[in-house]
Amino acid sequence: MTTNAKRGNLHNRAAAVLLAVCAVFSSASALAEATAIYAGKLFDSESGKLLENRTIHVVDGRVESVQQGFAKRDREKLVDLRNYTVLPGLMDMHTHLTYEFGPRTYMETFTWNPADFTLRGVDTARRTLQAGFTTVRDLGDSGNVTISLRKAIDAGTIEGPRIFTAGKSIATTGGHADPTNGHRHELMGSPGPAEGVVNGADSARAAVRQRYKDGADLIKITATGGVLSVAKSGQNPQFMADELEAIVATARDYGFTVAVHAHGKEGMERAIRAGVDSVEHGTFMDGETMELMKRNNTWYVPTLMAGEWVTQKSAVDGFFPDVVRSKAATIGPLIQQTFADAYKRGVNIAFGTDTGVSRHGDNAREFVLMVQGGMTPADAIRSATWNAARLLKVQDELGSISEGKKADIIAVAGNPLEDISELQRVKFVMKDGKIYKNL
Ligand SMILES: [Zn+2]
Repeated sequence: MTTNAKRGNLHNRAAAVLLAVCAVFSSASALAEATAIYAGKLFDSESGKLLENRTIHVVDGRVESVQQGFAKRDREKLVDLRNYTVLPGLMDMHTHLTYEFGPRTYMETFTWNPADFTLRGVDTARRTLQAGFTTVRDLGDSGNVTISLRKAIDAGTIEGPRIFTAGKSIATTGGHADPTNGHRHELMGSPGPAEGVVNGADSARAAVRQRYKDGADLIKITATGGVLSVAKSGQNPQFMADELEAIVATARDYGFTVAVHAHGKEGMERAIRAGVDSVEHGTFMDGETMELMKRNNTWYVPTLMAGEWVTQKSAVDGFFPDVVRSKAATIGPLIQQTFADAYKRGVNIAFGTDTGVSRHGDNAREFVLMVQGGMTPADAIRSATWNAARLLKVQDELGSISEGKKADIIAVAGNPLEDISELQRVKFVMKDGKIYKNL
């Protein structure tokens, strides 16, 4: 072999190695899913302002950058939303994915298996995501089904929102969320901490630790009576201060936040003093309660849709058991006014619907009720994005479309700051950089 031929062989080999290296690099960059989104209008949820003409670069499920003007890079797929308003994915801080209330709901306790609740959850999760809600906080399920739903969604097995779930809510004996309320005696049994029923500080600690073992993300307790439970009072206090303190202290050890169902003032204030993170519904809070919440940095999650829904259904003969009907008729209509007062006083508000009472997928009606209650459209949207992320303590990952955050992005046709009902007609949904609904 001549020297030249040898050199030629070496060149060929070097070229082959180079080609192989290139192949490795190009397959690596093929793995990087890159999308450019042209946004005619872009809602900045941190400032509450509407920006114009931006390009959002999404790489591998995250927002890589947001730039002025419209410019796509090679290899990027283009999503052209120049005629749309682009917003962060919506976040509902109060859902029940395994429930959807109807006149036969009370029978499900006796006739449904966990698999039935799971299959409903598969459907409700899909509807929620399609409505533009890319994150939910689930505040009470049956049989820890939402924990399994969360796993299946994260694994990509089924389609649904990112779920932060409390698993089974924690109540006291006979309290709202005692699973055997209203049953006949031999069916009542005596549910304990594992089933989410506690009495005394020790069993309260056990119930929180059980939620940790089950794989929940946070804690939900029912500090006062509720509307839909088969029990007399919708507002009596149902936890003692020492039980509340035990729950909050134990929750902190496991990095859990604590969400509190409450209608009555006394039970609500005990929970706020114990240091819980959010009050749900909050119907009978007054000025004093609101000031206490402000001092303690307690979030308010109003659930106006639940108030509206129970009020409407209380007018239908036979829809509710009698004991529920009277509570629904008295408590339901009051939440809207409480919300209006709390907003005026400057209580921190995060968006939540209690969907599962009303129909899954209708969640955005809450925005309409919030604006009717005097909230500005920008603040209503911020409550479901930036504020919700702060309540969940995930504002570094979610809640706005900004560099480094997860690419949870939606779009509507009109301008939701002019017509908030546009959010009931979401046209485009992306979660983790993947498109689930397209124009
Ligand atoms: Zn609820």
